[in-house]
Amino acid sequence: MSATLSFSELRDLLEAIFLRHGTSPDVAAILAENCALCERDGATSHGVFRMQGYVDSLKSGWVDGKADPLLEDVAPGFLRVDANNGFAQPALEAARATLLEKVRTNGIALLAIRNSHHLSALWPDLEPFARQGLVALSAVNSFACTVPHGGKVRVFGTNPLAFAAPREGADPIIFDMATSFMANGEIQIAAQKGEALPAGAGVDASGAPTTDPRAVLDGGALLPFGGHKGSSISMMVELLGAALTGGHFSFEFDWSGHKGAATPHTGQLLVLIDPSHGGGLPFGLRANDLVARMRASGVDRMPGERRMANRARAEREGIPLSDDVLGRLYAYAGRSEDT
Ligand code: NDP
Repeated sequence: MSATLSFSELRDLLEAIFLRHGTSPDVAAILAENCALCERDGATSHGVFRMQGYVDSLKSGWVDGKADPLLEDVAPGFLRVDANNGFAQPALEAARATLLEKVRTNGIALLAIRNSHHLSALWPDLEPFARQGLVALSAVNSFACTVPHGGKVRVFGTNPLAFAAPREGADPIIFDMATSFMANGEIQIAAQKGEALPAGAGVDASGAPTTDPRAVLDGGALLPFGGHKGSSISMMVELLGAALTGGHFSFEFDWSGHKGAATPHTGQLLVLIDPSHGGGLPFGLRANDLVARMRASGVDRMPGERRMANRARAEREGIPLSDDVLGRLYAYAGRSEDT
């Protein structure tokens, strides 16, 4: 059995959950919108599936849902935010106006968020900038669950890297990917469903390759995607997300004293570029040329297209949720299902 919610119904329900678990109204609105966007677009590893992680992290006192981000304007193209142990998305929101001013003035601007928690996909952070004609890049490190290529012990997080670029007359190009073989949420979902992982995803507690998601979660580890190449990109995400911002590396924080804590306490880097300063034809037209040639070569799925198709479907038909999931969300919100 399943029910269908409109985007605003889902967002309002999630907002009620955040508020009930101790966030400020502003933070509740930002996180609820973010999580509902993920569910709407079929980015299910960071949709309502993550509400338990948010709720448990807030309950445990690990993350401050009422934190006030502190902006530090450190150079013409460099803005820092201390999220004060709060979530990264409200920190980005606090910096948005200044960041846009800087990128329009300088042609490039960087936002370094530290002392922050990010439990979502990165594309919701970037897409609005690309829709404003900007090229955007973001990196977030997470929690130690991935063995570097050639190593034996978890060092890296699943460390996503995302990139967004505007096109002329079309949705922006956006890719958003874990630099581990899979996102940790995907491993958890596979474990819940009892599905095997693809070969190469991870190792068990003894370091032997495994396709069992439980073995990866229970003492095992993920592997980076693409061997030594993915491992270097994951290392870069650690350096950008933590060393550059002043946040924790994925292996540096200890959440063991906070039962249920699920939000990595690290940092996030965003780089915005105004492509109108570039040479040649307008960037959006050049992006279209590239996409056209990729299509002509036989590509029938661009990164981001699956989400866009899900988005269009959700806008027509609503967002489907199983009764079980919806029941859990109502319980988190302290509501009965007919309110
Ligand atoms: P996927 O491997 O599913 O997808 C990665 C990217 O590749 C997406 O942009 C996707 O587009 C695109 N893509 C997938 N398949 C194809 C294909 N066949 N052809 C062309 N493009 C394709 O994502 P991951 O599992 O690596 O990551 C999922 C999410 O997890 C990301 O949003 C990431 O930000 C998030 N994450 C967050 C973390 C955190 O700490 N906050 C940690 C790790 C991951 P599309 O979206 O349209 O499918």
